[in-house]
Amino acid sequence: MKKAKSGFRFTIAIIIVSLMFIFICSVFLFNVIRDLGERTDDIVYSNTYQKTSYVNHIVNSNMMMVVNMASCLTEYESYSDEDLKNTLKTFSQNAKFLTVFLARPDGSALSWRLDEVNVSHRSYFVKALSGERNVSGQLFSNVDKMLVNVYAAPIYDLRRNVIGVLAATYDALELEDDLNMSFSSKDEPSPGYIIEGNGDVIMTGAPYSEHTSPIGENQNLFESPLYEGMTEEDKKLLKTDFENDECNNIIRTTAPNGNVYVAYYTKLDIPGNLHYLLVFPEGIIYDSLYSYVNKIIILFGLFFVVIIMVVLAYLIIAKSSMKAMQLANTRISKLAYEDPVTGFGTWNKFNIDARKILDHSSENEQFAFISFDIDKFKAINDMYGHEEGNRILKVIASTVNRNLREGEVFSRVSSDNYYILVRYTSDEEALERATSFIEAVEYEITQFVPVLSFGIYRIHDKTKAIRKMGDLADIAKRTVKYGEASSIAFYDDSMMQALREEKHIENEMQSALDRHEFAVYYQPKVALQGKPYVMGAETLVRWIKPDGIISPAKFIPLFERNRFIIKLDFYMIEQVCMDIKSWEKMGYSDVLVSVNMSRDHLTDNSFVQKLYEICQRYQVSPSRIEIEITESAAYDSMDVLSKVFKELKSYGFRVSIDDFGTGFSSLNMLKNLSADVLKLDREFITGTDNEKRANDIVTCVIMLARALGMETICEGIETKEQADKLRRLGCDMAQGYYYAKPMTTEAFETLIKNGSPTKPVELDPEKNKKEA
Ligand code: C2E
Ligand code: MG
Ligand code: MG
Repeated sequence: MKKAKSGFRFTIAIIIVSLMFIFICSVFLFNVIRDLGERTDDIVYSNTYQKTSYVNHIVNSNMMMVVNMASCLTEYESYSDEDLKNTLKTFSQNAKFLTVFLARPDGSALSWRLDEVNVSHRSYFVKALSGERNVSGQLFSNVDKMLVNVYAAPIYDLRRNVIGVLAATYDALELEDDLNMSFSSKDEPSPGYIIEGNGDVIMTGAPYSEHTSPIGENQNLFESPLYEGMTEEDKKLLKTDFENDECNNIIRTTAPNGNVYVAYYTKLDIPGNLHYLLVFPEGIIYDSLYSYVNKIIILFGLFFVVIIMVVLAYLIIAKSSMKAMQLANTRISKLAYEDPVTGFGTWNKFNIDARKILDHSSENEQFAFISFDIDKFKAINDMYGHEEGNRILKVIASTVNRNLREGEVFSRVSSDNYYILVRYTSDEEALERATSFIEAVEYEITQFVPVLSFGIYRIHDKTKAIRKMGDLADIAKRTVKYGEASSIAFYDDSMMQALREEKHIENEMQSALDRHEFAVYYQPKVALQGKPYVMGAETLVRWIKPDGIISPAKFIPLFERNRFIIKLDFYMIEQVCMDIKSWEKMGYSDVLVSVNMSRDHLTDNSFVQKLYEICQRYQVSPSRIEIEITESAAYDSMDVLSKVFKELKSYGFRVSIDDFGTGFSSLNMLKNLSADVLKLDREFITGTDNEKRANDIVTCVIMLARALGMETICEGIETKEQADKLRRLGCDMAQGYYYAKPMTTEAFETLIKNGSPTKPVELDPEKNKKEA
């Protein structure tokens, strides 16, 4: 919408700029045309001024010559005809007249070239006899046999009476070139005329031609096509001007053939009311003007076309770049809002949608924020490949999507973490929804049983930031993480407290290690068969702080999550090596010590090598050390566990499967793992629901272990009854508060110095707890 608006604005701007350009060009052209018009008129005026001066000069000098000749004949009446003829001949020879003749008052004309003729009917004679010197129009001279103009002047006697007329013929064609005018060498000369005030054409510059002259030969101007083609106003102006003495003007006229002519006229400065008229086709001057203007118009046109093309090119480029931008925007928003793995919404989209739903919900609508992920998704990726991992993520997303209700949203927010905003009315319903998600996912994934951890945060304050709600649901989720089966936890504030404590521990763990706050405690292991004696001990870590001892249950799970356990385990084994070495020096070289190693080490290919190097460093034989690894480590990868067991044994370590029976123990597993010891969890002997059945199972396990060449030990023995029963069932060793609680190195040293504990310590769980 915004883009369409800006495109429309741009088009309007282009139209306005174009119109302004056209307007400026028009004004410019108008001024150019007006200036050129004025210039052209100036050219006409200045050229014709010279022309008229010239014509004035010719006609005047001819006229003056005739007047002078006439003044020489004041007494002609006393001349003989022969003398008179000779005088006239002399006049003719001295001037460029064709024939000079004298007419007596009766009209009889005398010349040396012809016999007497009568010119009394000729108007030049009549005018001259009345005392008016004048030039005639073009006449055909029978004497000269050509068109001539006759210059006539009165002959006065001494008393200034007109006694005759002197006339001289002048070649009419001789003036032709002088009357005509060329504006340029390319054009035909334009015809000039000398016209009397009554319109009679006296002299014609060019012979009559329809193309060159709209005034016919010997015509009267006021009857000519030139005059007819003028506007009524111009006709009136022309007539008035010809009647008056001083005037010059330019008038346009249209000839019958449609050609436009320009008529310029000016009064001649000679006797009689004579005018010089120049007629030329408008094109002669104006064509060059128009071609000039045309060139300017073409130039402007081209310029305009170039501008339009540039604008069009710009528009095309802008449009295509706009398209590219739109495409990029679509891609960006796809990237921002569409999860490429699942094809569903991203965290950004979830954030926006969830916010909208919560903001628009009514007060009594209740929402819960669910966070869930798949336990050990990394292992799934490693085992099945990334492609399969992605497919599983997609399957989970579509399953969740299918199980959503109206007004609920979900998103994969990162890796294998999903958020769902659900509606609920009670905790039971929220739990049911989470369970149904788990069941649906378990149904869809067939390759393995996915373990999902769910955290549910009941939204009390809908205005809380979505990210914060997610964090709280995450906290709840973390409390059930890495269980054996999918689990669900509701968030409560104690979790936040625990989280704070965890953070506190995390902040302190490294410095605690540096300060040697982690201490080795030993819990004796007692041989059950025969006379009981302490045949070894299990090392258990204790965090000794100035304000008390922290149990591993508080920090081991955390260290396993943040992998600090790796450092701690190596630290522990070093301490153990030192103790073993010192006991050896004291002469106790048959104490077998077991050390717990987290399953986190299994991913480290050089783990066993590192253990071995530590033993070497302290010159302790690996055969003195038993490595306890929990049965649950087999869930990650049985193959890896089996390989590590073999490697440990190849270096001479004893290997023990710890906490056997806590998880989904598979007897088949025992066959694959070549362990030395099977350590039965205390669950085996504490369960009292069906004692007989429990006894049968323990017996079975002990027999199987023995059949596979493994010793058995049962941990968590708290009573004499339990100890007796295990002895009866054939268990090799026992460990528990009944015999001894975990104790300091010094306490354990005292114990082994004093010999085997024939008399078990008295059972006081509360006291033990405190001491442990
Ligand atoms: P675990 O290896 O199964 O250790 C035996 C646990 O049972 C110890 O708990 C011990 O104090 C407790 N226990 C022994 N006798 C009795 C009894 O009669 N009754 C009861 N109720 N409990 C008894 P602790 O010391 O709290 O250790 C807990 C777990 O922490 C250990 O279980 C072990 O998995 C882990 N752990 C302890 N120290 C280390 C260590 O240095 N490294 C590693 N990776 N894990 C350790
Ligand atoms: Mg253990
Ligand atoms: Mg154990």
